[in-house]
Amino acid sequence: MKIGIAGAGLTGRLLAWELAARGHAVQVFDPADGPHEPAAGQATPYAAGWTAAGMLSPVAELETGDDDIYALGQRSLARWPQVLAQLPGAVFHRQQGSLMLAHRGDEGSARRMTELLTHKLARQGSDAQAIDAVMRRIDLAELRALEPAIQGPSQAWLLPGEGQLHTRQAMLALAEAGSRLGVQWHWQTHVEALSPGVLHARGGDLGFDWVFDARGLGARPELPTRGVRGEVLWLHAPGVVLNRPLRLLHPRHRVYIVPRPGDIVFIGASEIESEDRGPMSLRSAVELMAAAHSVMPELAEARIVHMESNLRPALPDNLPRIDTDPGLSRINGLFRHGWLIAPALIERALAAFDAARDAGSPSKDNIAP
Ligand SMILES: Cc1cc2nc3c(=O)[nH]c(=O)nc-3n(C[C@H](O)[C@H](O)[C@H](O)COP(=O)(O)OP(=O)(O)OC[C@H]3O[C@@H](n4cnc5c(N)ncnc54)[C@H](O)[C@@H]3O)c2cc1C
Repeated sequence: MKIGIAGAGLTGRLLAWELAARGHAVQVFDPADGPHEPAAGQATPYAAGWTAAGMLSPVAELETGDDDIYALGQRSLARWPQVLAQLPGAVFHRQQGSLMLAHRGDEGSARRMTELLTHKLARQGSDAQAIDAVMRRIDLAELRALEPAIQGPSQAWLLPGEGQLHTRQAMLALAEAGSRLGVQWHWQTHVEALSPGVLHARGGDLGFDWVFDARGLGARPELPTRGVRGEVLWLHAPGVVLNRPLRLLHPRHRVYIVPRPGDIVFIGASEIESEDRGPMSLRSAVELMAAAHSVMPELAEARIVHMESNLRPALPDNLPRIDTDPGLSRINGLFRHGWLIAPALIERALAAFDAARDAGSPSKDNIAP
């Protein structure tokens, strides 16, 4: 089939590659000026996928997610290694678990979080042993053995199945993998709207057998998306060893610290109900860095090499959504879970696409872009 995709963010890139691998002729349209990383401090909007930490945390994200996010996350944890193995170039990916940490005095937040996760896991049918297998309280000696650089917290939990990937490497590799399968990328192209089989681009209508809307926040007003501001920073910290992502259970902030290759320590992220894409605020910078320093004092001499803000594309219920009509599919609302759930969500969207296509859909006249 001849397929048009609006949006070359995380969803658009993964979808294009999956569809091309199934033998479809795929074209992707995006306002960005190319497949490459955004320039440092770039003022024009770009995909949230570039900014994300790449935490693959189905258990910890049960705090904000529902049972379906959990199921999609677990499925995606299994899918990512299969996907990454087929991409050109190395994409840093690690599944050595993650840690949740709490300071003395923040036990109330920690108790609230662990009780909530336990409740949600039990509601899905997990017994105490199964819950312990995915979220286990560890003592400070075990914490020290796992992560010698961590000092200060009074409580710790290991979430053994969780992982991380390098989002920027994955975005680049997905585009390159798509190109090798014949995906055509049309940059600097703004798609105003979609209707069955048609992308309504600024330069004119483009006809396909089927079109997919993967525009994230750009899908407005056809979908009621909103942007949720997130701010992150990267530290260069040679010699500081961290083997897995960690998150601090804090009464006011959700702070995580994620190691990346090249001695980079990634700290994120604020979550603010605002569509301001402007630079990081002093308050967020202070709070994120103070929280990170409070569990990893060795970061004191780390250098701040990058600060970034972007908007997570969310729907009113903060849950993902797939709409499938003959000739038109929409995938949106990935919010703070895009990397966690994308492979499984796209699997689901493609199953719905296959079913709708097999049920028969009106064909469109193809208008070459
Ligand atoms: C600070 C931050 C931290 C995050 N951390 C994590 C994390 O640790 N783990 C995790 O799982 N998720 C995380 N996320 C969430 C994840 O990045 C998003 O869920 C994901 O990127 C959404 O994918 P998407 O393809 O729907 O949207 P995007 O990645 O935003 O891509 C949308 C694309 O559509 C294009 N577009 C927009 N308008 C148009 C138009 N009119 N025509 C054509 N194209 C258009 C855009 O240019 C863009 O390329 C984080 C996000 C942020 C901001």
